[in-house]
Amino acid sequence: MTKIEETRYVIGAEVHAGAVECGGLPPLLRYCEAVTGAFLTDVVAWLTEECTECGTSLRTASEARFRRDHVLLGRFVIVGCEGYWLVNPNAVGIPSEAWNDWRPHFGIE
Ligand SMILES: [Zn+2]
Repeated sequence: MTKIEETRYVIGAEVHAGAVECGGLPPLLRYCEAVTGAFLTDVVAWLTEECTECGTSLRTASEARFRRDHVLLGRFVIVGCEGYWLVNPNAVGIPSEAWNDWRPHFGIE
């Protein structure tokens, strides 16, 4: 996925955990850049192909619609369709005390 595509999807998504101010960039953009530039080992625990908010993935939903409603990094959902940040922002250098880990709700950990 190119930077241009990412930016388009970022604009289409809603900001949720967006109370974080970072480096002059809108929090959602900053988050997406941080996840994109992170080491795989730092974020792999939160990479999922399925949106935790609607339960769909690129494989089960219409691709165009899925791409419009979610922020993707490759095939992974990094922002859900309701704006939730799926990758722990604290793990990519964005302090976010209010962030709740989705994994326990799905029996992961
Ligand atoms: Zn979704």
